Amino acid sequence: MINYISTRGKSESKRSAEAIIQGIANDKGLFVPDRIPLLSFKPEQKIGSTYKYVAFHVMQSFLQDFTEEELKKCIDGAYEGTFESVDVAPLVKTKKSYFLELFHGRTAAFKDLALSIMPYLMLTSMMKENEDKRVAILTATSGDTGKAALEGFSDVPGTEIIVFYPKDGVSQVQERQMITQMGKNTHVFAIYGNFDDAQTGVKRLFDDEGFAASAAAKGYRLSSANSINIGRLIPQVVYYVYAYIKMIENGAVQAGAPINIVVPTGNFGNILAAYYAREMGIPVNRFICASNRNKVLTEFINTGVYDANREFYMTNSPSMDILISSNLERLLYHLSGGDSAAVLRMMESLGACGRYEIDGTIRDGLKSFYGGCADVEETNAAIGRLYEEEKYLIDTHTAVAYKVYEDYRKESGDETPTVIAATANPYKFADSVAASIGLAVDADGFANIRAVNASTGVRVPDSLRNLEGKEVRHRGTISIDSMAEAVLNSLA
Ligand SMILES: *Cc1c(COP(=O)(O)O)cnc(C)c1O
Repeated sequence: MINYISTRGKSESKRSAEAIIQGIANDKGLFVPDRIPLLSFKPEQKIGSTYKYVAFHVMQSFLQDFTEEELKKCIDGAYEGTFESVDVAPLVKTKKSYFLELFHGRTAAFKDLALSIMPYLMLTSMMKENEDKRVAILTATSGDTGKAALEGFSDVPGTEIIVFYPKDGVSQVQERQMITQMGKNTHVFAIYGNFDDAQTGVKRLFDDEGFAASAAAKGYRLSSANSINIGRLIPQVVYYVYAYIKMIENGAVQAGAPINIVVPTGNFGNILAAYYAREMGIPVNRFICASNRNKVLTEFINTGVYDANREFYMTNSPSMDILISSNLERLLYHLSGGDSAAVLRMMESLGACGRYEIDGTIRDGLKSFYGGCADVEETNAAIGRLYEEEKYLIDTHTAVAYKVYEDYRKESGDETPTVIAATANPYKFADSVAASIGLAVDADGFANIRAVNASTGVRVPDSLRNLEGKEVRHRGTISIDSMAEAVLNSLA
């Protein structure tokens, strides 16, 4: 049986259901599987499989305390009728690479792949563990997690979902998606600050015993829908396995031959899932970690020094405007061979002085990662170039990945077949996309959606098309210091 242990080594091991309910370990570390399971099948034997089929077999390897019936129910609930593509995650071929389109869910970003199943995993876990409290899910968002979590948990019994987003750090469409959210148990707050402030604020609430006691007095325990929750991470492994099967199916690779994976990265959850897929047996040559102007990860990969003491920039790929990439802690744990004392030292150093340095073992493991970055001009140019050359339209985050991949290819000459994670629908960031393909940019984001649509003919997903007329249900901006109060007031 696979159990879940803390990266910092000072908490006892848990069943997956317990780890999902709890979110973060008692010693403030992140839960990791005590070993990463191998795939229970050979990818080439699964050609033609549905997404749900792959999801079941990948997730069953990690969630070994779930029964077959429980897991199947979760998967059906999450992926049946909730995605605009029957494929869930279609793989689109362009001249130089393959785009894995992860944006066909209800909120038009890749977060839907995990957050449409996580509420089912949470409810099932609560039932399995005979949890008598309700769960208050606190979530900091750089734009996309918030909406996907709200949509996923809306009216899920036994839960309240509370989301904090940086007031000036999300796109107009992202904000509108969140503040129009329906559901009696949904709560949305803008905060004065950036994403790191929101994330640190939420982490501080998790660390505050007095706060936990106040929530408990109201009948709640606290959990998180951020990718620090292992229930977020595991469903993301699925689509990399699925993509590899599709690559074999399309003749893009021969069974057993490696691929590269390019991921536009913020909190390091998505690219970590790709790493887990490799540990399960998917052959990956390079993980290409793409950052925007907040290039703390690029420098980390290139120098071995993680240094968050730097200016924070707001860019047009806001879901990657992050200086503290939480999930990197898990990679450090795995690459160090499970050296939790070393992880604890590095995380203490990060907490105390915003900086840490890795040792030789971790550095060696990092060699399969390439780090690169793109600024706003390069991002927009990449959107324009790909659209002009191939009539394929990508969003700003995917464009960061595309640009970094182009650089990597030039630098390395590596022709390994490559999958680029396409993380958001281009209409979510229509202002930048309009500018990038040479259209006049309107002050109103919705006008830009219409303009891009008129010019390109690319379909606008229903969830974004209907957004403009929706009633605003959540208002108000609060200070970081009022987050605790906001949560307690939200708990009935
Ligand atoms: C969240 C997000 C990212 C970053 O993913 P991480 O798992 O945080 O690294 C990239 N692109 C989009 C569109 C996102 O919503």
